Amino acid sequence: MNTANDLMGKIISLAKRRGFVFQSSEIYGGLKSAYDYGPLGAELKRNISQEWWKSIVYERSNVFGIDASILMHSNVWKASGHLANFSDPLVDCLNCKERFRADKAPKHQAGSEITYIEHGKNNAKVHKTGTVGPQGYVCPTCSSPLLSPERDFRGMFKTTMGPIDPLGDFVERYGDTPLSKKELKEKLYEMADRGAVYLRPETAQAMFVQFQNILQTTSAKIPFGIAQIGKSFRNEIIVEHFIFRSCEFEQMELEFFCEPGSQKEWLDYWTQERLKWHQSFANNKDSYRLRQHDKDELAHYSDSCFDIEYKYPWGFDELEGIASRTDYDLKKHSEFSGAKLSYFDQNKIDPATNKQGWRYTPYVIEPSAGLTRTLLCYLLDAYHEEQGVDQHGNDKTRTVLRLHPKLAPVKAAVLPLVKKDGQPEAAEKIAQELRKRGILTNFDDGQSIGKRYAKHDEIGTPFCLTVDQQSISDEKVTLRDRDSTQQVRVSTSEAIAKICEALA
Ligand code: ATP
Repeated sequence: MNTANDLMGKIISLAKRRGFVFQSSEIYGGLKSAYDYGPLGAELKRNISQEWWKSIVYERSNVFGIDASILMHSNVWKASGHLANFSDPLVDCLNCKERFRADKAPKHQAGSEITYIEHGKNNAKVHKTGTVGPQGYVCPTCSSPLLSPERDFRGMFKTTMGPIDPLGDFVERYGDTPLSKKELKEKLYEMADRGAVYLRPETAQAMFVQFQNILQTTSAKIPFGIAQIGKSFRNEIIVEHFIFRSCEFEQMELEFFCEPGSQKEWLDYWTQERLKWHQSFANNKDSYRLRQHDKDELAHYSDSCFDIEYKYPWGFDELEGIASRTDYDLKKHSEFSGAKLSYFDQNKIDPATNKQGWRYTPYVIEPSAGLTRTLLCYLLDAYHEEQGVDQHGNDKTRTVLRLHPKLAPVKAAVLPLVKKDGQPEAAEKIAQELRKRGILTNFDDGQSIGKRYAKHDEIGTPFCLTVDQQSISDEKVTLRDRDSTQQVRVSTSEAIAKICEALA
């Protein structure tokens, strides 16, 4: 049985050891909160995104995929409200100096007594008692109620576009001017805003901004959706739990446009669809649950929202949000840009005039999932240890990643039993047959067969095909199933058919 921290530790270690996920810039000490996906991680991520795209775009006639730029006009973020509101409440603990997000801190009744560790966890012996302030929360690290006031921390990464040097320009213009602290701040911000562009904190806005183009080029009829997978960037106050919360991550988002009044029906539909999708690739369906947002949690423009939560080692937490966003986004972009972001349905009666033909601003349902967070969930779901005994009767642990075959990075490994007697050549021929079918296949002739099986169990390869002496004459292989470890002797073509069937 894995304890929570144990399991995360094992996943992080396996991810690095086998080439799923590495710390960014590791040889320079690492860049906190950014990660690189190695050969297996890149495959796993690609497979998850392909399955999402298949289910959202390919299996429907009314959802269209796009691939928008990460840098957008800064007015996009003014219209969307991100420039004014995309910030988190940042608090400093005056006891242990930890920085944290107020909205994620442990809640305690204002005025109640709380025991905390003086100077934080490194001085675990000295306990003190304090009173929880009116904010109603304490430090997540040391439980201290001695906290700084909250201040807004802007979550968007800012950069400049074009040949602009805001700091240089500032020195040129004000270098010899005596300025008060307030003036200095104002002028600096003013200069920094010239040519400022932002790395998108979500992929969603491009789907609203391109609404008109997509409507025109596809002749889509409501209800229809625009889907996108791509990178997003947030300057998170706290990055935590490995790739669960990082500053650079990937999202899979759908904006589904529907008629005003039909939003509840579509919210229910998409919530169920998305839950089913996550569960369809998981071993433990019970690790997923829905949580409806309370009224006071909803953004001011949203009339309902569900989170799909996953049971992480630290408890249930968000994996995907499905929000009913009303007509807020299209209306805002219409207002700020002057573009007509509406839809005309000539077959409908306008409820306001009772006349044939209705022009309205569509309502939006937004299922928004983290791709990299989904990858973490599938690693956690797949990680499995089995106790057994080896050939000498000693205890041994078999580590197996029980990834769904469609998600597994390597689908099949072809293993010659020995490196001679034509076995490697026969194995390579079978590997080529699989590769011709677009199946990522390893040819592996190093180490003992047991070690090779163990390696492929650990990276989640669903099938191993072993070529032995007899294979040369009867064209049969031993097909080993990763999860049951069952081995059957079948013809090469049967083995290939079985693998194709598991991936279909
Ligand atoms: P959280 O409450 O965890 O901060 P959020 O409510 O801000 O998430 P959304 O803005 O709804 O998240 O983003 C949609 C999805 O994008 C999330 O459900 C999550 O899967 C993913 N996501 C958001 N922020 C991050 C991040 N910093 N790192 C990795 N994935 C993220």
